Amino acid sequence: VSGDREHRPLVVMKFGGSSVANPDRMKNVARRIIDKKREGNRCVVVVSAMGDTTDDLIDLSKKINADPPDREMDLLMSAGEQISSALLAMAIQAEGEKAAAFFAPQLGIRTDSVHTKARIVEIDGTRLQKEITNGNIAVCAGFQGLDASNDITTLGRGGSDTTAVALAVALKADVCEVYTDVDGIYTADPRVVPEARKIERIYFDEMLELASLGAKVMMNRSIEFAKKYNIPLHVRSSLNGNAGSWIIEEEETPMMERPIVRAVAADKDQARITAIDLPDVPGVAAKLFGGLAESNINVDMIVQSSSEHEIGKNDIAFTVASTDLKRAVERLKPVLKDLSGGSIVFSDDVAKVSIVGVGMRSHAGVAAKMFKSLAAAGVNIEMISTSEIKVSCIISRSKADEAVRRLHAAFELGRQAPVAAGA
Ligand code: ADP
Ligand code: ASP
Ligand code: MG
Repeated sequence: VSGDREHRPLVVMKFGGSSVANPDRMKNVARRIIDKKREGNRCVVVVSAMGDTTDDLIDLSKKINADPPDREMDLLMSAGEQISSALLAMAIQAEGEKAAAFFAPQLGIRTDSVHTKARIVEIDGTRLQKEITNGNIAVCAGFQGLDASNDITTLGRGGSDTTAVALAVALKADVCEVYTDVDGIYTADPRVVPEARKIERIYFDEMLELASLGAKVMMNRSIEFAKKYNIPLHVRSSLNGNAGSWIIEEEETPMMERPIVRAVAADKDQARITAIDLPDVPGVAAKLFGGLAESNINVDMIVQSSSEHEIGKNDIAFTVASTDLKRAVERLKPVLKDLSGGSIVFSDDVAKVSIVGVGMRSHAGVAAKMFKSLAAAGVNIEMISTSEIKVSCIISRSKADEAVRRLHAAFELGRQAPVAAGA
């Protein structure tokens, strides 16, 4: 089929919870979508739950059941996006444009069955293609999918970002725009560091690290998708028309000045578990982490050291998401019994602070500078991990914000681009 309609650019626009938090914001978003359409685009919209709806639903469930099953949690949480998608479509219709709202069972978004952190395995875009061909603005509930037994799943916190990028890939969209409550990606969370600077262009690999290390502005899974299929993302504000940040593939000859450290991130949803006095024999780590993997608990930093208490014994310390702490400890109990030795201590008063930048590949001394500036701030480092493009430290949670501010200053990230001499 040819004809003008098919040649109009296809834009996926994603709006986060704060952008649709109340009826006025919802109407504002509706007008932005309509403007985009009237500029000559075909629009697919992905929307998150209004404001704090997801958190509120989680709190509500805890009042009913201290340990609610993940399957029912998914059905409950997905309701937030079902509400906002229906309302946003209504807001667009109220302005006289054609729109239709959809939730997971209608969208053909298939996931695995790992409730509360499901992965998208396939998208059948037939229905959406039909809707946009018919001139409808398709308003899709983010964050949710359907598993092989037709049970509702959710994609993990912040998962609407992933819905948006995955739909952009499936529909071969020309652009994917992520509208949020800040003007773009900053050198640190602007709520924590007032001097943080907006980054015009950031590479997929840097954004992937930042997102995985706690900068919740984008969900990490969404960046994995965008990188894999090379879909540039434009992250911008839903409240103003300012240019935002572009998340793009790394350039061979960078157009921009390449900073060594691009940004600082903190993740306060971390917990540390230490298995102490483990027998020092082959297979112990395999048993410990095998059990956690079976329960879909992601383990992050791991440090093994000889026991302080006994010769021939080891301690293994590692971090998990604080939401997984309880389950992880429960899961480890039978493993320790099986090993006939060792005990477990844990703390969720920890946070991970990280510096990220592809420029670190070719520079020595970056980690040392980080440790020095944390030391100067009186922050004790409990664990360290590094990769080519990041350094992360586990510290006390109460020091996280201060540490981020110190690191941001130490690496001069708030500094304006240098002005040419004589200017
Ligand atoms: P949405 O509801 O639109 O998905 P989120 O609350 O998930 O928005 O993400 C936006 C928030 O991410 C911002 O309000 C900001 O506080 C936080 N944030 C953390 N790190 C960064 C960063 N480096 N740049 C921009 N925002 C950041
Ligand atoms: N509403 C979900 C959450 O709060 C998904 C999202 O906002 O992207 O995590
Ligand atoms: Mg988000």
